[in-house]
Amino acid sequence: MSEAYTGGCACGANRYEIDGEPVVSVHCQCRDCQHKSGTGHGSYLAFQGAGVKLTGDPTRWDLVGDSGNVKTRAFCPTCGSPLYITNAAMPGLIAVHAASLDDPGRFKPQMVMYTVRGHAWDSVDPSLPTFEKMPPA
Ligand SMILES: [Zn+2]
Ligand SMILES: [Zn+2]
Repeated sequence: MSEAYTGGCACGANRYEIDGEPVVSVHCQCRDCQHKSGTGHGSYLAFQGAGVKLTGDPTRWDLVGDSGNVKTRAFCPTCGSPLYITNAAMPGLIAVHAASLDDPGRFKPQMVMYTVRGHAWDSVDPSLPTFEKMPPA
């Protein structure tokens, strides 16, 4: 088994440790990910929640995403770093932000989704498969 994925927020108050490999790794250009990242897309690794150990006390808020599903976002109330997302449409999965990893180089994106919301100034690796919205299940 590979080394655990570890990471957390910028100030260190919230940490995670994850056993197992990502189910999927994506860039998402939806409007919500733009707001939260402050730039053109968010980058995530989604894991089975059972393997995720969290420490700290993040603030959470719910929103209805472009997909129409409720998503819960967790971020550090001290430093504001986004930490992870859960999605009512994908129970059991938890998606962490690529740059929250202690070693962000372990992020291996497989696709770009919600390109319908993407901006001309936010070009992502053109060799990746793209989906206008969610990829087909
Ligand atoms: Zn923090
Ligand atoms: Zn998104």
